[in-house]
This record gives sequence, structure tokens and C-alpha cells, in this order.
Amino acid sequence: MRVTSFTVPPLRNDAYLVVDESSLEAAVIDPGLGAEKILASLKLSGAVVKYVLNTHGHADHTADDANLREATGAKLGIHEVDAYWLERNAKDPRPFLEKPTPAAKPDLLLKEGSEIRLGNTVLTTMHAPGHSPGSAVFWVANEGVLFSGDTVMAGTSGRTDLRDGSPGKMTFTLRRLYRGLPGDTRVLPGHGPATTLRNESWIADLEYPLLR
Ligand SMILES: [Zn+2]
Ligand SMILES: [Zn+2]
Repeated sequence: MRVTSFTVPPLRNDAYLVVDESSLEAAVIDPGLGAEKILASLKLSGAVVKYVLNTHGHADHTADDANLREATGAKLGIHEVDAYWLERNAKDPRPFLEKPTPAAKPDLLLKEGSEIRLGNTVLTTMHAPGHSPGSAVFWVANEGVLFSGDTVMAGTSGRTDLRDGSPGKMTFTLRRLYRGLPGDTRVLPGHGPATTLRNESWIADLEYPLLR
């Protein structure tokens, strides 16, 4: 598996091009407003994009979904619980973006355990509520790589004070990932630099927030 990362607008989002080297089948994770950049790099690589995947529905991550899907014929996948954002972003993408995004219909409604196959590379969906109700992370077991969206980031987690965010669910999700996956898992987040789960040892000390 070869992963190319791109820092793209609107909020310095990390977009990822994931290529299975044996089949040259590829996926784009969270294109943001990076379609042009990603398509240019794709031309050089000779890979074929089979899937556009969103870690969650916020417009800064989904903005170029429709453009990429149209340019490549890829199938669009998002966790079923966050799919409603795609419709919403085509009307009102605030506070993540000013201009509405082109309407994008998901082809795949992902659930916990849904597998996305690129040749021999398998991305397994894990439901990761907290930042948004239908946030998901994509785990590539045989590579030890986790595409963590706005859930685990270097030194922090995604915000939980946005619409439908939940500090309690975020704590549950972070603890589940930290305890359940190997420490040397390479974490590729939705914003900021890559990290490993072992580096994020603050998660071990997290306590559940008091609910008011
Ligand atoms: Zn977000
Ligand atoms: Zn984000």
C-alpha cells in the first residue's frame, strides 16, 4: 500500500490517496477542496480510484466528493449515520465552508466492520462517534495504518463542541482505539501531522466527562 498525503483547503485538511500497489486500485480519503491536486498526482501514478471515502460528513472533508466521483467514476462511501451531512452541505456547509458544495449522493453507506477492498489491501470501517455521530476511522490491519479523521490527531482529538458532537462518546471511542489497536499503529489524521497510537498516551489517562 502506498499512501500520498496532501494538505488541502479549506482548513488545512489532510487528504490521502491510498494505492494498492499490486492492482493499482486506489481510494481517496477526505478530499476536502483538493480534487485538482489529487487528480494531477493520480495521472502520474497510473492508479484507478475505486472509492472516495469520508471519515465524517463535515464539509471541509467532503467538499470535492462530487467532483472527484465525477472525474474518476469512483463510488462514494460514508458512515450511514453521517450520510445526512452530504445533503446538508449542498445547502449550508457552514461553519466549515462558505460556499455550498455540489450535491453528492453516497453509493456506500458504511457500518462498523464494512470492508473496502483495493486489490489485496483491505480498509476496515470502525464506527468512531464523538466528533460527529457518524464519524468513522479506517483501519488497514496488515499495514498497521489507521486513517483517523477528526478523531485521533497528534496530541489531541477532534472537537466535540460542534453540532451533534459528544465528549462522552469521544472518550469511549478514543479508549477503544487506544486499547484495541497495536501501539505502533501509524495514525494518519484529518488535520495536522501523522503520529502513532503509542505517542498518544494521554488517551490512557482520559476519564469520562461528567454529564450535566
Ligand atoms: Zn470535522
Ligand atoms: Zn476536520
